[in-house]
Parts: sequence; structure tokens; C-alpha cells
Amino acid sequence: MEKKNTMRHALSVHLRGARMLGGVSPRFFPVLTFCAVADALTPYVTVFFSAHILKELALSRRADVLWQWIAAGVLCTALLAMLKSFLYQRKETLLDDLYGRKEIIFVRKMFSLDYADLDRQENRDLREQIRQNENWSSWGLMCIPPVYEIGLKGVTGILSGIALTVSLFTTPVPETAGRFVLLNSPVFLFVLAAVIVLVSLAAGVCSGKAISYWSSAAEEATLGNRLFGFFGFIGLKKGRGADIRMYDQQNLVSAYWDKNRAFGADGLLAKRARGPIGIFSGLGNGITVVTTGFVYVFTCLKAWAGAFDVGSVTQYVGAVTAMTGSIFELTYLFGYLRTNTGYLDTTFRLLDLPNAMYQGSLTTEKRSDRQYEVEFRNVSFRYPGAGTWALKNVSMKFQVGRRLAIVGENGSGKTTFIKLLCRLYDPQEGQILLNGIDIRKYDYRDYMDIFSVVFQDFQLISQPLGANVAGSASYDETRVRKALRDAGFGDRLETMPDGLNTQLYRDFTEDGVEISGGEAQKIAIARALYKNAPFIILDEPTAALDPIAEAEIYSKFNEISGDRTAIYISHRLSSCKFCDEIAVFHEGRIVQRGTHDELAADEGGKYHELWQAQAQYYTG
Ligand code: ADP
Repeated sequence: MEKKNTMRHALSVHLRGARMLGGVSPRFFPVLTFCAVADALTPYVTVFFSAHILKELALSRRADVLWQWIAAGVLCTALLAMLKSFLYQRKETLLDDLYGRKEIIFVRKMFSLDYADLDRQENRDLREQIRQNENWSSWGLMCIPPVYEIGLKGVTGILSGIALTVSLFTTPVPETAGRFVLLNSPVFLFVLAAVIVLVSLAAGVCSGKAISYWSSAAEEATLGNRLFGFFGFIGLKKGRGADIRMYDQQNLVSAYWDKNRAFGADGLLAKRARGPIGIFSGLGNGITVVTTGFVYVFTCLKAWAGAFDVGSVTQYVGAVTAMTGSIFELTYLFGYLRTNTGYLDTTFRLLDLPNAMYQGSLTTEKRSDRQYEVEFRNVSFRYPGAGTWALKNVSMKFQVGRRLAIVGENGSGKTTFIKLLCRLYDPQEGQILLNGIDIRKYDYRDYMDIFSVVFQDFQLISQPLGANVAGSASYDETRVRKALRDAGFGDRLETMPDGLNTQLYRDFTEDGVEISGGEAQKIAIARALYKNAPFIILDEPTAALDPIAEAEIYSKFNEISGDRTAIYISHRLSSCKFCDEIAVFHEGRIVQRGTHDELAADEGGKYHELWQAQAQYYTG
């Protein structure tokens, strides 16, 4: 913990974040650099030219030189203003773009995480927390651009200020000036340095305090954002309209708006802004004027004693005033940097989650005869954090090219069995083997290639139909059409306005087509067929259908599965009657195996009990 508070740690996490942002948007930081430098130089350019114009007016009074200074000043200021404005537009566009692009960093992480970690509630909460921190005040990765910009502007400003004030110390008061000769002592340089350091520290403490009051309201603001995210857009949510009307839910929404304290004028944040945040940032700003005061007195005394003219006084006072602003920005930056370090630590806690699942490098043999033999050997599995076994001592060997059914009541472990088969989780006990080798030894992507699963909660995406089926924007049209026809979507495809190019759903376009649950399911099945993997698995993707419709889909699917090894999962026994073998799951164990006729005849068995209980749905 100690280490986490050091400035070194703060700089290193910000640098790391900047590298990541630069990785997704290489042009952003170069543009931001030019923009910040141009912005920081502007006040010093003005001070420089004004001082020379005044000097010429007060001393030499040469008209031609005066015009030259004016022309050069106007030209430089105009060029700088144009450059600044141009760069500012570029910077803003790239910054907007960066807001979207930085999601790539999180998406890549979420996709590369082990499924078990992705599934873990604490990791999803962490992602949500990062999102909320960003929504609230751009804390985290998106705080890095302003931190960099402020820092660079501060440093450029100070360097420019020093360049314009060096002669304040090097130009001596004439020896004839009596006691004023004291001003030539180098001590004043040290006094100024000491004033700058002390003032910066004091201002830094004040700004740090103001920021900490702000960020300590994070919890309140996060809750406020969550509530706003839910209630603020409730009227726009598809599917809520009917309930809102039926149960007067608008009253609940109005109650929320009345009681919303997080961001309201009476809320904690508003109170703090009026109180300590305002006071401390005011103090921080005010204190820096001490430096300006010192320089005013020192400059005026030297000018009084005849060290330099009025033009130089303008230059020194102008430069130091601008420099004070830069110093204040830098002190403010330290508070900002330190606070954001905590938020970045949270961000990296997610981005540094290890991908803990062991992955081998064996490639699966590409076999045209589809002779892949999978075996579960005494497999037991418990979900992370769960007290009971979801699967206990399960052993099973799949017969290549055969139809296997897995049946059982809800919660008996059927889906878990498939998740282990697909290596979304690893079992704690026992082994799963592919052609006699532990599946952990295979390259994961390669292993996944042998399965096509239609999950219970399959998801299609708002993309054209053909791309959904193929999982890619370029695909073999003939094969996609065949897969859709085989899945029973052929007639519907004929009616689609743009055929395979028809956009599914209306998230992105008015022309999108809303499809029913049954149609979506056919598309999901077509997707599994198109993948053409040796194993095809249906995990109750038909939950919304009645038992008879489900049985029809399953037996049709059986016809189109061809020589693949097929696994069917259902809690409805009638759907799986046709299978070569049925395994009955109960409380995480396989309690019976056999054909439908064998199992139905065993009157003392679980299958018989379930069959009797469900018979009402499909007899008579
Ligand atoms: P089925 O597919 O037969 O309905 P599951 O395999 O989904 O059953 O569930 C088996 C057991 O594991 C159930 O007790 C369920 O509550 C539990 N379970 C399922 N998913 C999770 C999870 N992600 N975390 C913890 N427990 C889970």
C-alpha cells in the first residue's frame, strides 16, 4: 500500500496508461503535444512583443523599427492563433475518437480472460466500477490526456517564463544607484526560487484538498450515475412500455427524480462545491499571487534604480504573471495525478487479471472422418465460490457419429456438463480427454473448433443476417443459404427485403428487421450448422417453445446433423426420444443410461418418474 502512494508509482501508472491509449490511437498524443505547446506559448509571445514595442516607444522612438515590431507581433500572434485553432479542432476530434477506441483495451481484455473469470461477479463489478468512475468525471484512463496536457502546458509555460526573465537577474543596477546596488546580489534569485517553491507547495496542498473532497464523493456519484442510467432513460427502453402503462410505473420514476440527491442542487456534491471545494480551490489560486507580488516589487525597485526601462518591466511582470498561472496548474496537476492514480489502480486491477487457465499447444488433428472421441473420466466440478458440486464423478464416452441425449430436471448439471466439455471451465477432479489426451494440452482455439454449440441464451448481433450465420463479413453465400434452409429458415429468408444482407434488429438502422424468438433460434441453429464442426450440441435453445414444437425442432435437427456427433440437452424427455443413447442427470450425477425404451421400462428409475410427470404435455 505504501508504495502505491508515491509519486513514482503515480507517474508509472499514468505512463503505462498513456502507452495503452497511444497504442489504440497513435496520432492523439503528437497532436495533443503540439496543441498544448502552442497554447502555452501564446501569452509569452504577446508579452515579448508588447515589451519590445513599449521599449521602442519609450526609448529609441524609431518609427520604422516600431512598425517592424508591430508587424512581427501581429503576424506571430495571428499565426499562432490559427495554428492553435486548427490543432484544437484536430485534438477534440481525436479525443472523441479516443473515448470510443479506449474500449478496445477493455474488450480485448474481457475476450482474452478465462470464461470462469469473466463470469465472476466481482470482475463484472470491477468493470462496472471503472465505467462509473469514467462516466462521473473521466477518472481513470481518460484522465490521462488532461493530465498530460496540463503538465506539458505548465512546463512549457515555466520554461518560456524563465527565458523571458533571465535578464531580470542578469541586468545589474548601476553602481551609482547607492543602496539599490544591493539588488544585484544573487540572493534575490534564491529568494524568488524559495518563494516559488513555498507558494507552489501551499497551493498544491489546497488544490489537492479540493480534489480529494470531490473524489471522496465517488460512491455517492456512482450510485447517482447508476440510478440516472436506469431511471433517466426508462421511457426509451423497449419492452418496458407496456409495464409502465399497466402498473403506473411512471410514479416510481417521478419519485426518483424528486428524491435524486446525488447531483441535485441540495446534493452532497453541490454542498461540497459550495463549501470546502470552492474555498480550497480559491485559496490555491489566491496564494500564487504572492509570487507575482514578489516579482512586481523586485522589478520595480530595479527599474527605479535604473537597471532597465519600462518595456522590460512589462516583459518581466507579464512573464512572471503568466508563469504563476503555469505554476498553479502544475501544483493542481499533482493533486489531480495523485487522485487519478487510485482510479488507474482500479483500472489495472482488471487489465492485469491473469489468464489463469492452463493452455497447451497441441493442435487437434484435422480429420475428415470426424473420428474425434471425447471421454469424461470421473469428472467433478464446483463453480467458483459455490458450496456444492454442480457435477460429481461423471464418466461418459461419446460414440462418434451417434446421437446422445442429456436429460434431467432444471439444475441437474446438464449445462455445466456442456460448459466443461467446451472448456469454459476446468474440472477440479477427473479428466476430460480428446482422443486419449487431456483437453488442457490442446491449444484452446483449436480445441473449440471441433464444437458447434447452440447455447440456451444464444445471442445474435445487430449485423446482416449472412454475417450472423457465418460469424464474418465475408462468407460463402451458397453455404449460408443452405444452412438457413436446413435450419427451417428458408421461407422466411425469401421474404426478407435484402436477403442475406438484411440487417437484423433496429439498433443501428431504421431498415433493420425485428425477428421473433423462434426465428432467432433458427438463425442460431443455422450458425451452428455453418460452422460445420464434428460435434454439434443443442443446449435447450428452445426454452420459449412448447414441448411439441421443441420435439419437432430436435428431430428435424437430427436429420440435418448428418455424420456429426450430436448432443441434445433438454429437461423435456419427449424431445430426445429418438436418440441412440440417453443419459439421465440428477443432482450432478449420471443416474441412468440407455435408450428411451429401456429407460421408460425401468419403473423404479428417474427417467420413468420424469416421463410420467411430463406425459400430460404430449399425450392425449
Ligand atoms: P441445468 O442445465 O441442468 O439446468 P446447470 O448445469 O445450469 O443445470 O446447473 C447445475 C447447478 O450449478 C445448479 O445448482 C446451479 O444453480 C449451479 N450453477 C449453474 N451456473 C452457476 C454459476 N455460474 N455459478 C454458480 N452456480 C451455478
